[in-house]
Amino acid sequence: MAKYYITTPIYYVNDHPHLGHMYTTVAADVLARYQRLQGDDVFFLTGVDEHGQKVQEAAEKKGLKPIELADAVVERYQQLWPKLSISHTDFIRTSEDRHKQVVQTLWKQLEQKGAIYKGVYEDWYCVPCETYWTQTQLEENDCCPDCHRAVQKVKEESYFFRLSDYQQPLLDYINENLDFIAPVSRRNEVISFIESGLRDLSISRTTFSWGVPVPGDEKHVIYVWIDALSNYLSALGYPDADNMDFWPASVHLVGKDILRFHAIYWPCILMAAGLPLPKRVFAHGWWTVDGKKMSKSLGNALQPDDLLKNWEGDVLRYFLLREVPFGSDGDFSESALKMRYNSELANDIGNLLNRSLSMLQKYKGGILGKVTSHELDVELCQHMDKMPVSVQQAMQGQAFHQALEAINSLVRHGNRYVEQSAPWKLAKEDHIERLDTVLYHLIDLLRLTAFYLSPFMPNKAEAMMAQIMNTHVELQTFNLAEHGHRGNLTAGHECGKPHPLFPRMI
Ligand SMILES: [Zn+2]
Repeated sequence: MAKYYITTPIYYVNDHPHLGHMYTTVAADVLARYQRLQGDDVFFLTGVDEHGQKVQEAAEKKGLKPIELADAVVERYQQLWPKLSISHTDFIRTSEDRHKQVVQTLWKQLEQKGAIYKGVYEDWYCVPCETYWTQTQLEENDCCPDCHRAVQKVKEESYFFRLSDYQQPLLDYINENLDFIAPVSRRNEVISFIESGLRDLSISRTTFSWGVPVPGDEKHVIYVWIDALSNYLSALGYPDADNMDFWPASVHLVGKDILRFHAIYWPCILMAAGLPLPKRVFAHGWWTVDGKKMSKSLGNALQPDDLLKNWEGDVLRYFLLREVPFGSDGDFSESALKMRYNSELANDIGNLLNRSLSMLQKYKGGILGKVTSHELDVELCQHMDKMPVSVQQAMQGQAFHQALEAINSLVRHGNRYVEQSAPWKLAKEDHIERLDTVLYHLIDLLRLTAFYLSPFMPNKAEAMMAQIMNTHVELQTFNLAEHGHRGNLTAGHECGKPHPLFPRMI
């Protein structure tokens, strides 16, 4: 069984869950579910990043211990994910012992390989971003080039990671592995960043204590990013647990703002430790809301819990991955969501399911007949054969919107096929063989649609399948190679009665 390891970043506990977290996690879940249907053994990791100066300061302000602040935020994530049907294998917290041990193990390994040395760090540091900057990287008035806030000058004893040693090996790796960083535009940005020169990275701090101590020199705390990135190994039980079979990761999904950490620092650390690099790092874009950038100060940061009051989790999942190509920026608005819901879910999919099952009930008492001729249905059958192939290609490149478009296109063909073959006429004129053939194709098309939609809308797809099969079907236990193609239904099968899945929204 092929191993498939997919990760979201661990989310920073200084933020509450917002649309961006929901987006990455839903995308990772869709991939995880799709790969399970492919028969892969899937490990899907998400979690939270709890350490760092910013968390320590935020907790102090509220009169809390950092772990108390973290516990409260962690609970919000853990309550949210089931509402969106997130099927993660593991939820890791960087405050857990199993994680801290791995961070220290990895540190010692890097030290043994000579990749770490002690020196003096004197430079600029942005606390909100937990990022070091050189003078030349700063904006004009000494502000952080990422968040545009004031940075601090720090001068302290620090451990360094020999990042500069890996500049050429990393460039070589990126050039030899064209799938490593996606999309291509982001890959080019990473390459030019590396080509501008990698400096050794300061990887310890002595001015705060909320983090993992450097082994053997406990007044130093390990740089939060080294700590955070190691979660991808600690969740597998690095270095020797059985789950290390899942390494290297199949895909790390990240927001574009943290691509540099995943596509530069992380691979260099892994090279230094002698570990294989992740197969792919995919950086997705950002959402604006009603045309405006989301921010705390504008008060328009969308809370997933608010959205879930108006919309089912499955519908939100669908919209996020349908509306915008993964990798591009997009705009979120409830009017666009409603439009897609009504046109693609209610009018196209919902309608086809309802009319097909209704006709089968009305004309055949819900019982499927035989397919007796093919000449008139060649085109429809070609579309049914093509859809799984198109979905597979799209999913391999994380082009979720294309996968959904392939499914929707088949559904549109299905609705046209109903009009063209006019089953009501066939029934009236007693063309029973032809009627059986048409209804069989329609139900089969819907069955395929349910299979391929299930990673995106797990609950809706199961509800759809339950109507088709007349019994509950656990879709994640199926295998697309066996069941995900045309002609898998048997004559004599009794379908269930139609129940509207996507009532029109007014
Ligand atoms: Zn900043």
